[in-house]
Amino acid sequence: MTNSINVNQDEIAKFEKVAQFWWDLEGDFKPLHQINPIRRQFIIQHAQDLFDKKVIDVGCGGGILAESLAKLGAKVTGIDMGDEPLNVAKLHALESGINVEYLKSTAEQHAAENSAQYDIVTCMEMLEHVPDPASVIAACAKMVKPKGFVFFSTLNKTTKAYLLAILAAEKILKIVPDGTHEHDKFIRPSTLIGWAESHELKCLDAAGIHYNPITENHKLIDSLDVNYILCCQKVNE
Ligand code: SAH
Repeated sequence: MTNSINVNQDEIAKFEKVAQFWWDLEGDFKPLHQINPIRRQFIIQHAQDLFDKKVIDVGCGGGILAESLAKLGAKVTGIDMGDEPLNVAKLHALESGINVEYLKSTAEQHAAENSAQYDIVTCMEMLEHVPDPASVIAACAKMVKPKGFVFFSTLNKTTKAYLLAILAAEKILKIVPDGTHEHDKFIRPSTLIGWAESHELKCLDAAGIHYNPITENHKLIDSLDVNYILCCQKVNE
């Protein structure tokens, strides 16, 4: 699939608009800052030592996860289709003295030239913003080395996810901008796992990411009802 096909420009525009607040710990991306340590922990738990590992972060945005993995010694490339998020990410890495390579690319485009190049592929909170998430998963499967790990996180297609992630977070509490998410684009874990397994990605583990914006309590939980993260491993072809 080409670049022009699997990108929803309206979705990109939403992130362009608020990119300047990406590193504001109390701003629109506060939930991502708060859950980042637990998703990083989940990655370490499975991939273990990240030192010198080649990592690609697909839909990296302003670089919250990418930087946190680079800090562990990983050689991180972040790709995104938003100019502003990438500018913010580059500037922040420079300010923090952290080395991350940022490129404007889709997963599909990057995979075409980087087959089996990465020890770890991460794709967090991005699949629910693309027209064809299965195509992104195929590209992630292509980029990872045999036995390498691919991590996905997204929102489940449940009523509870609608009530918490859209109604509460966007409309009532206004902790994320109105219109950030569409329930139609949420993905059931069984669907995601099915796509992954059709591309030789075996699902090893799944966890729920719990975040309570009022108490700011965040932790990994068993229930995949709302936000969840998967660890997949590329099986030998
Ligand atoms: N993964 C980051 C940011 C999530 S926000 C994190 O979890 O911290 C979603 C990001 O996906 C935005 O930066 C948006 O620009 C990007 N995005 C949306 N569609 C995309 C596409 N088709 N290709 C690449 N990036 C995309």
